[in-house]
Amino acid sequence: MIPPFPLPSHMTTIVHFRVPNVEDGLTFCELEESQEESSTTQYLNHLQDLSKGELNDSSKWTGEDRRTALWWIFMATSELGTVPFSYECNTCGETHYHDIYMYDLMETAKAVPKLPELKVELAINGVIHNAQVHPMNGEAIEEIELLRNERDEYEPQSLDWKRAANEMAIHEMAHCLTIEGQPEDRDEATQWKVEKIKTMRLPVEFMSACSKVEKALRESRHGLLTKYVEGRYFLVTEVPECPKVIEKGGKAVRTLLLPFHHHDYIAKI
Ligand SMILES: [Zn+2]
Repeated sequence: MIPPFPLPSHMTTIVHFRVPNVEDGLTFCELEESQEESSTTQYLNHLQDLSKGELNDSSKWTGEDRRTALWWIFMATSELGTVPFSYECNTCGETHYHDIYMYDLMETAKAVPKLPELKVELAINGVIHNAQVHPMNGEAIEEIELLRNERDEYEPQSLDWKRAANEMAIHEMAHCLTIEGQPEDRDEATQWKVEKIKTMRLPVEFMSACSKVEKALRESRHGLLTKYVEGRYFLVTEVPECPKVIEKGGKAVRTLLLPFHHHDYIAKI
């Protein structure tokens, strides 16, 4: 049994998942890292127990809701409840191996009755626009994932790569904003916002918009403690520190960003 899952961004919304079976494992046996978000949508929709309620489309959930749901299902169904993790230590030069206890992450998890309305004023080419900031939903994150894949077709740090990386960052900002006067249609709205953002004056208008969006997103924190960097989710977690560091009088734990890959959490064969 998987306990009913309250959406962290709207905790009175309850989602019922069923325990994955062999057939589900077969369905999700090939998971590509380049399609992490689209398979997450499929998995979270596929696993909903429709005998207990209507489908609640996970592409409309926030990125944090989705990662937290993966963790929730994993905790309820994994025997060990751990995810192995290793990193190269820059103190001693060796690789350290740790098991992350998924249950411990409960401490950093947060659910809210609803996300706050975060209003901001944005200067766009000298004109003030009213806007609202919100975390990206699954649909938006899937789009960013496609842009990241486009970027990764280029040689890292090449001119084309940088162009694609900037395009990705601008789309990310566009997806976090609802700007007064934007078109009704979702795709048209995205395009409209991207064009608007491109007319922002560098550095003042654009930098100030970046920091306003970032600040607002911090205020809407929910779900597990994660960090979204260049189209990927990372889990913010603590692991025992390298013995060499402790010897020198350092702290006993170190905070790490652990790649929050869907394939560690999705039941597969
Ligand atoms: Zn070390």
